[in-house]
Amino acid sequence: MRSVRCPICGAAVVWGLQSKFRPFCSERCRQIDLGAWASDGYCVPGEASSDSPPDDFSEVPPKPATSRE
Ligand SMILES: [Zn+2]
Repeated sequence: MRSVRCPICGAAVVWGLQSKFRPFCSERCRQIDLGAWASDGYCVPGEASSDSPPDDFSEVPPKPATSRE
């Protein structure tokens, strides 16, 4: 079974549905983390940001080289 460490207190947290505060071990730790977010510059190390590339690729249908008239 996968488990992660609570980023606040370092306790092992089972990564499953029964751990509804994951990755935190408890609601308390989650609240502490939320407070950290709100009060001070809190950066998540190694967290992959979900910056998506600009979707400016538009599929243009190829024009016919020759046009019959
Ligand atoms: Zn904790």
